[in-house]
Amino acid sequence: MAVYYVNKNAQSNGDHEVHISTCERLPDTENRLYLGDFTNCHAAVREAKKHYSQSDGCYYCSEECHTS
Ligand SMILES: [Zn+2]
Repeated sequence: MAVYYVNKNAQSNGDHEVHISTCERLPDTENRLYLGDFTNCHAAVREAKKHYSQSDGCYYCSEECHTS
């Protein structure tokens, strides 16, 4: 299990990136939304999409969920 967050701020392509709590690219506290504990990034991205329909896994910490 890992704790996941989604970036409140979209990237230039409109994606909100999903990160695990230990990622070095994790946004600052005020710029991230807590998603919860998940066994994999797919479940975390699914949760993130309830908040931001355009959510995507971080290339660095959730590469298998990174699509764009
Ligand atoms: Zn990350």
